[in-house]
Amino acid sequence: MICVTIGRTRHKQIMAEHLNLAQRGAELVELRVDWISRPPRIGELLRNRPTPTVLTIRLPADGGRFSGTEETRQTLLREAIVAGVEYVDLEEELASKIRRYGKTKRIISYHNMEETPDDLEEIHERLSKLDADVVKVVTMANSPVDNVRLLKLARNAKVPTVAFCMGEYGIVSRILCGKFGSPFTYCTFSKERVMAPGQLPFDEMKKLYRFDQINESTAVFGVLGDPVSHSWSPLLHNAAFKRMKLNAVYLPIRVTPEDFTPTLKAFEELGIRGYSVTIPHKEAAVKFADKPDETSQKIGAANTLFKDSKGLWRAANTDLPAALESIELGLQAKGESGLSGKRVLILGAGGAARAIAWGVMQAGGVLMVSNRSKERGMKLAEELGCQFVTWANRGAQAVDVIVNCTPIGMFPEMAQSPYEQYWLRDGMVVFDTIYNPENTMLIREAREHRCQTVSGIEMFIRQAAAQFKFFTGRETSLDEMRSTLRRAISPVRVKTETGHAPPSEATSSQEETPPATETGSGEST
Ligand code: NAP
Repeated sequence: MICVTIGRTRHKQIMAEHLNLAQRGAELVELRVDWISRPPRIGELLRNRPTPTVLTIRLPADGGRFSGTEETRQTLLREAIVAGVEYVDLEEELASKIRRYGKTKRIISYHNMEETPDDLEEIHERLSKLDADVVKVVTMANSPVDNVRLLKLARNAKVPTVAFCMGEYGIVSRILCGKFGSPFTYCTFSKERVMAPGQLPFDEMKKLYRFDQINESTAVFGVLGDPVSHSWSPLLHNAAFKRMKLNAVYLPIRVTPEDFTPTLKAFEELGIRGYSVTIPHKEAAVKFADKPDETSQKIGAANTLFKDSKGLWRAANTDLPAALESIELGLQAKGESGLSGKRVLILGAGGAARAIAWGVMQAGGVLMVSNRSKERGMKLAEELGCQFVTWANRGAQAVDVIVNCTPIGMFPEMAQSPYEQYWLRDGMVVFDTIYNPENTMLIREAREHRCQTVSGIEMFIRQAAAQFKFFTGRETSLDEMRSTLRRAISPVRVKTETGHAPPSEATSSQEETPPATETGSGEST
């Protein structure tokens, strides 16, 4: 179950949001009375409450705002109990002062806004002894590994226990705590009303992560990156799980380079079956894998880790085939096929450029690499045995295909292009790996020149679909992935105003857990 927290300064706002949440399907709502600026009127808040309710009055030390006396706080809580509220939240020092009465259940809670302390089990045991119906332990995660400790606490507890971490590192346990036995997780009314660090909005938890459907047998996947909050992968994969009725969830997992290997080792306890890997971990993923495939070994970068049926970690690079297929789309639209003999200019020499350059060489293309920093560009060109073109000279080459692997033109700096319009020639294939926005300045100018254009969306959905196949053994629909992504990123302001827009279709209850894949085929659909 999802418990949605409301913290507003006025009674009227609280009651309006409570009603709104009930209409949106909320089953449990926490009223944070400590947020109210006037003397709280408990009876009024509870009288016609539209859902079961948790009443909480948090002190500043525990992340709250209550500034009244301790006596007032206790009086308000007793008033709520007398009014028959479903739950009261009581911190350890308060629990013995507020006695059980009527049907009201007691959540005995512990919050640590700084860290996840070493003595979690002792804390939990103390709270359990305070006539608890539910124990709640919430701590700050300073590393993704902290999630594992909280989830184990929930799994091993004899008293029903809500246990998860706060902060961006804690999102993993906020979403997975139900799988480990927590009776509920906490969410915020909307993205604009985040009340604790890392809190997800109700709609995202319900529709994107489908918290209510997560159970012991839910297969877990995720994307490892730093940063990771901008990633569209959770949207694509979760939407595909839902569409295909798979009992699986996909999480954003922020991990720093130092924490990469310790996190993957610690997460073995969570039974995670596959990861997408993004900046800056693609090289580390190859090193971590028990069996990296040939391509990822040669490029030295993998964007996919998945467990095979023997429990071994395999690494693959789905960026490369996805990029080559995208270029092929452009060639086919011109009635041509294959890169063999085609003059290809790659702009950039970073991770994406390296993978695509390697693929172009393999496919027999005549490759040129141009990069802003000469040293990096020359290094890549030397490694691959191709021509390096200085950044200043990039417009002077006669080329058939241009691939932009720089972020120039990406949201929010959309008025820029890495290639002057007057350098473009009719009939060129122009592939921009950027997918936000879909129609970059480069793509728009290339269209005016009657070039064949391909946007980064084509690559992004293909690399995701190939990962999906490794993860689940299933083909997914590129068309569905394309429209999910398009709906989310265009117009661009959708992202800036509301964050990732989760898919809104209703969920189905008949779900299947995806099997572990043998080796996966890795081929895009
Ligand atoms: P990266 O490793 O950080 O490399 C960035 C490259 O862009 C470097 O060569 C860098 O040159 C160059 N660059 C950055 N800012 C520049 C500027 N203002 N002017 C000129 N050159 C500049 O990043 P990456 O992982 O390769 O990603 C690059 C792009 O590929 C991103 O835009 C990303 O959206 C896109 N991408 C798309 C997909 C997809 O599925 N569609 C997948 C992966 C990546 P220096 O060496 O001089 O710094």
